[in-house]
Amino acid sequence: MNANPKPESVLRTKEDYFKRLKGMKRNLYHDGHKIDRDDEIQQAALSVMATTFDAATNPEMADLCTATSHLTGKTINRFCHIHQSTDDLHRKQNMTRSLCRKVGGCIQRCMGVDALNAINAVSYEADKLNNGKTEYHKNFLKWLENFQNNDLVGCCAQTDVKGERLKRPAQQTDPDSYVHVVEKRSDGIVVRGCKVHISEASIADEILVVPTRALMPDEKDYAVAFAVPADYDGVKQVVSVHNYRSRSKFYRGINPGYTDSYVIFDDVFVPWERVFLCGENDHGGLCALLFALFHRHSYSGCKPAIGDVILGLAALAAEHNGIQKTSHARAALAEIIKVSELGYAAGFTASAMGKPEVYIPKLGMVPYGPGSYIPNSIYANVGRCLTGEAVFHEQEILCEIAGGVPATFPYEGDLTDPELKPLLEKYLMRNPKIPIEDQIKFWMYFGDMTCSGFASILNYGNYHGGGSPIMEQIAITSQYDIEDRKNLIRDLAGMEKK
Ligand SMILES: Cc1cc2nc3c(=O)[nH]c(=O)nc-3n(C[C@H](O)[C@H](O)[C@H](O)COP(=O)(O)OP(=O)(O)OC[C@H]3O[C@@H](n4cnc5c(N)ncnc54)[C@H](O)[C@@H]3O)c2cc1C
Repeated sequence: MNANPKPESVLRTKEDYFKRLKGMKRNLYHDGHKIDRDDEIQQAALSVMATTFDAATNPEMADLCTATSHLTGKTINRFCHIHQSTDDLHRKQNMTRSLCRKVGGCIQRCMGVDALNAINAVSYEADKLNNGKTEYHKNFLKWLENFQNNDLVGCCAQTDVKGERLKRPAQQTDPDSYVHVVEKRSDGIVVRGCKVHISEASIADEILVVPTRALMPDEKDYAVAFAVPADYDGVKQVVSVHNYRSRSKFYRGINPGYTDSYVIFDDVFVPWERVFLCGENDHGGLCALLFALFHRHSYSGCKPAIGDVILGLAALAAEHNGIQKTSHARAALAEIIKVSELGYAAGFTASAMGKPEVYIPKLGMVPYGPGSYIPNSIYANVGRCLTGEAVFHEQEILCEIAGGVPATFPYEGDLTDPELKPLLEKYLMRNPKIPIEDQIKFWMYFGDMTCSGFASILNYGNYHGGGSPIMEQIAITSQYDIEDRKNLIRDLAGMEKK
């Protein structure tokens, strides 16, 4: 008999995932129509998500992309896992970088795992505060077990429409500017509002909802976290879809796509079993902060991967233009490498210094949650901030190295037109050592990633996703011990210490 039997695996295949989506109710609205989950327009996004299923069942990637559930001991997809150690945090970061490289952009599934980990800790602490009067954590764990056992895809709906920017939720002219509880019943709650820019909600199984900001005692109705199926009654998704321009000859190696939804909660009833926080304003704020923290840590995996793509584009553009030996091309490559690897290093340190602790204003770092691991906040935030601020600068570097070629590149129809083909191939030739078909494919892909509708959306996502740099600046400066540094100067300058 085998003393250590292999744990039961509950990994789905991509086919299982597609099949489940196909059976979902029609609540996706796109450009004046209702669409099915498997509509042609969503196929590219589905193929990206499918990568997360393929990777988990690939023996070569299993170490990174699967984990052992702390609830059941079963082998689960790492995107469904609650981090139990610093090693788990390292693996999540490395899995994210590795999968983002595979698809040449966002891997889409990290919002879900980041929300799971935030809610896991917050629901536990809120129950502690309520002295057993609430069962948020028990509800969450039961929901999580089903989520893990079925290898479901979660997205995270955090960003509210926010209405008048300088007013708090309770001060808004329209109280629905932030998702809130409009009715409490014996069997559940009714919520109303709209979350915006919610990535991959249109191809997710479940939507995890968390608050978007710190909340005051008069904003308890806004301190709500819950999960509903993505096709749930009363939930409407207005979907924007980001796909590459289609091609019929010069095929790409991969054809990724993305979707973002306005998720409207039109008086949605949520049974208590799916409610993980309701009315604890302090923990509502912490939930917002924790999701952002986990997500900024994920960014230390995805942004370096996007940096790898940008570096490859810059290096090949220099080669195609024959300028690879120039000093400005070398400086450009060094700049991209510095940003990517500093971002990765910050995430690595955030993983290594991870603990079951959070930063609470005036208290500093305090134990938080049931023992699951939380990345170090300063390092996750400095990494996200540094790399987020670099997004448009990196595009500037690519633009500088490329020259104008990607902006006015001929269309496929002209490149294949018998009359124009020989002329265009003659005049597109830049480096005789590279076959002309590869030169054409390279500049077309370069255009996809720098001056297309797709690229602009990617840049906005890379800049604002996980919180705009201003949000990290606030986190860093409020959590860093600046007083200590002031005292250092007082000491060094021989001043009186405070
Ligand atoms: C492609 C993409 C994908 C995304 N995916 C997700 C997702 O999956 N889930 C999710 O929850 N979110 C998602 N986001 C949302 C992202 O987190 C937000 O865009 C980001 O937090 C900024 O919020 P905002 O867009 O509302 O901008 P705003 O907060 O409105 O910022 C606009 C300007 O107003 C300023 N401003 C706003 N409020 C104040 C204030 N009180 N005082 C002073 N100045 C202020 C800002 O500094 C900024 O200059 C995504 C965003 C993008 C672009």
